[in-house]
Amino acid sequence: MNWEERVIGIESLRAYLPNKSEPDFRSMVEGLLEQQLETWPMLRDAVAGLSRVEYKRLSARGSEVLAQFNPQRIVSTGAKVDAATIKQRPCFLCADNLPAEERGVAYGNDFVALYNPFPVLPQHLVITSRRHIPQTIAGNFGTLLDLALDLGAGYFVLYNGAACGASAPDHLHFQACERKRLPMLREIESWDRRALSNDSGIEAFTLTHYRLNALIACGNDRGALIGWFDRVEKLLAEITGAESEPMINLVVTRDANRWTVIIFPRGKHRPDRYFAEGDVKLTVSPAAIDLAGVLVVPQPDHFAKITSRDVEEIYAEVTLDDARFGRVVEALFDEHSQD
Ligand SMILES: [Zn+2]
Repeated sequence: MNWEERVIGIESLRAYLPNKSEPDFRSMVEGLLEQQLETWPMLRDAVAGLSRVEYKRLSARGSEVLAQFNPQRIVSTGAKVDAATIKQRPCFLCADNLPAEERGVAYGNDFVALYNPFPVLPQHLVITSRRHIPQTIAGNFGTLLDLALDLGAGYFVLYNGAACGASAPDHLHFQACERKRLPMLREIESWDRRALSNDSGIEAFTLTHYRLNALIACGNDRGALIGWFDRVEKLLAEITGAESEPMINLVVTRDANRWTVIIFPRGKHRPDRYFAEGDVKLTVSPAAIDLAGVLVVPQPDHFAKITSRDVEEIYAEVTLDDARFGRVVEALFDEHSQD
């Protein structure tokens, strides 16, 4: 089945849309959810399963972390993403290989929004490229901003780099979920911060003594945000010695009149305890949602034993260390001071 057959148009979704007027993208994906719940049993079971996930509230350096016991996620958390495995498996984001009942809504000419049959949060969308091209943010960051704008304030959108969380590193895709449960988005508002710049329509900052190192920018100028992101990406590549894209995860939201972009620079993909044996083993594989404060733990015994100290160590281990992060921050700060 190709994308033309997978994509549902307004007429076919009409029965699921709230009113008869010209629906926007958000209305279309909301209608798509109704249609998919009715026609795709796998998604229906997954959404029912999501309502039964358990949460455990933890605290890492005073920041709230919700450990989520979500057994459905073992598929992704346990996924092998090495080049040889990826090369051999049929790509699960290509139109030919999706489950028979899966349908999507077009996003522009190049992307299709689909529902994730292994959701972490409600309204979990995967926005996939129609072409089987590698996961990369170069040239695609503007699309991430557009998606946040078109989905609106009830959602956040995310990008997981090919080497740090994307389960399909060979197929370009973004994700989006309901926003309200994500702890970090609330903490950004009130946490102590260090300003990096407040010009060109962009307010950039870091959070001080936070549970992990992140760069944040807010603003309403799309071009200026893209420019800022490109500079940060280049700087991260230089400082981490990345040959191509530096390891990053991104979370983007859109409020009434501005975007908020969170960049999580990574030190490594999976923590050492992921590969350990025995009591110390912890099957967690942090990507954007986990870093933003909902840490998925698919194994029941691991969920039972995980502590605040564990999550503190894991966040510190997989994100960029203080020394290199400090160099990035100083470079951004100096750049601003020279303006
Ligand atoms: Zn593919």
